[in-house]
Amino acid sequence: MLVNSKEILNNAKNQKYAVPHFNINNLEWTKYILETCEEMKSPVILGVSESTIKHMGGYNTVINIVKALIKDLNITIPTCIHLDHGSSIQNCIDAINAGFTSVMIDASKYDLNKNINITKKVVEYAKKYNVSVEAELGYIGKSVDTLNNNIYPKIDDVIQLVEKTNIDSIAPALGNIHGLYREKPHLDFIRMKKISNKINIPLVLHGGSGIYDSQITTAIENGISKININTELQITWSNAVREFLIQNPYIYDPRRIIESGKIAMQNKIKEKIILFGSNNKY
Ligand code: 13P
Repeated sequence: MLVNSKEILNNAKNQKYAVPHFNINNLEWTKYILETCEEMKSPVILGVSESTIKHMGGYNTVINIVKALIKDLNITIPTCIHLDHGSSIQNCIDAINAGFTSVMIDASKYDLNKNINITKKVVEYAKKYNVSVEAELGYIGKSVDTLNNNIYPKIDDVIQLVEKTNIDSIAPALGNIHGLYREKPHLDFIRMKKISNKINIPLVLHGGSGIYDSQITTAIENGISKININTELQITWSNAVREFLIQNPYIYDPRRIIESGKIAMQNKIKEKIILFGSNNKY
């Protein structure tokens, strides 16, 4: 069942668990993620970055692959197809027009007023199609940056962004970064809790790969309802495939090569679902 993120995230917020957002990278990953989430009875958000959309062929290709897999595999769990880090209003509109059920508008590189104006325009369009909208505030760094350049948003600014735009979820920078952490992540749980207490929409944690399990549990206790994972699945899958190719140097069938990463990936997905507490929810 294709849904927007609103209902599944509000359920997660009320019941204090987190919905996994797994980034898809191709057809096979989409299949493995859907099958595993179905087995675990976990709602799922399939995150699609703009570069993945390009890689897979375009917005329509992505949405039709997801819809066809849901039908052919008899997937019954609530599944949300979400544009990850939409970089412009037009890209969000294109995703919505193709059938995405959720979009993120990432205007975090602009000042608060510009971020509000851009986000508001996306929300106005999205609401007409029952599509949910996530926004970002502050700067969520990348592992190529130094760790201390994460720009934390002011709590009042977060409240303003939420109230003035009518978004459905928000990803404030809280010490999390995309990609691998160079040292133990430092998440600002106090700020997380304060923000969560002041707004009534779900909080999103980007850069979920490499955050310690105990920190994930604390983050969920402090209001996080959606956790984004990409790098950890990429590493898990590619390590398994690399090992397979070393052991089987004469195999050339791409289906067998891609599938050699499946079990390791499925185990990682299950591990995350159990950690996030989203299993047996549907
Ligand atoms: P990681 O690649 O660090 O898991 O982050 C994923 C993410 O936040 C996608 O938006």
